[in-house]
Amino acid sequence: MSDFEGLTALVTGGASGIGRATADLLAERGATVAVLDLDPSTVAEPLTGHRADVTDDASVRAAVAAAVDGLGGLDVLVNNAGIGAQGTVETNSDEEWHRVFDVNVLGMVRTARACLPHLRASGHAAIVNTCSIAATVGLPQRALYSATKGAVYSLTLAMAADHVREGIRVNCVTPGTVDTPWIGRLLDAADDPAAERAALEARQPTGRLVPAAEVAGAIAHLASPLSGATTGTALTVDGGMQGLRLRPE
Ligand code: NAD
Repeated sequence: MSDFEGLTALVTGGASGIGRATADLLAERGATVAVLDLDPSTVAEPLTGHRADVTDDASVRAAVAAAVDGLGGLDVLVNNAGIGAQGTVETNSDEEWHRVFDVNVLGMVRTARACLPHLRASGHAAIVNTCSIAATVGLPQRALYSATKGAVYSLTLAMAADHVREGIRVNCVTPGTVDTPWIGRLLDAADDPAAERAALEARQPTGRLVPAAEVAGAIAHLASPLSGATTGTALTVDGGMQGLRLRPE
């Protein structure tokens, strides 16, 4: 497939997990791809890496300028960098709320702001934000994280409305539990990582965690010019977790 032939893309948080799988897939499908990450040291050709912290506006603007310069324009932004947080409204401090919103929400705002002038010149531009089913499902011990993803969901719809007449589509993916280094870190912190992994798999109707490559597939679908009529939508990639109710076996 080469639906991205001749197109350029920037993936934030593209050094690991969902972002890396997306950068690799877009490149396989013909795009020229740059990655923006806190630590782009593992990013190798054909990808190019740019170091930036999405909480720092100046660093985002400098990295976007360098990336767009190298790419020769910008058609696709995958706004994906994000961090997790556990806790309730009683256990997370104000500082934690500010820090996680700064990365997960303002990080996407800053990156989009820096990219929009370039996307306007594209003619078939797309932004895909990485949201989460945490935006629409009540998960225990995830108040802060879920609130940031709820904001990403609303931001996606509002941005889609703001930019549709400029030829820029804005959508999001809402993944469930995805097999990335992030989940690996959570499992490593558990008393019994193997049992914890088995429990996570058991709550998936598909019986397995979502491979990062399958979230990348959904992101590529939304970013592709073949999805030219799709804007202001969320595509769920959760192994059936949200929609299916299986009978006990
Ligand atoms: P990951 O930890 O494997 O990768 C995240 C990447 O983002 C890393 O390369 C990291 O360096 C980068 N990053 C973090 N903070 C940054 C910052 N301030 N500036 C620039 N880069 C930064 O995580 P992942 O599982 O691939 O998650 C990616 C996205 O997917 C996140 O937005 C997350 O909320 C979302 N998500 C993940 C899951 C899951 O189960 N893994 C589920 C739903 C949504």
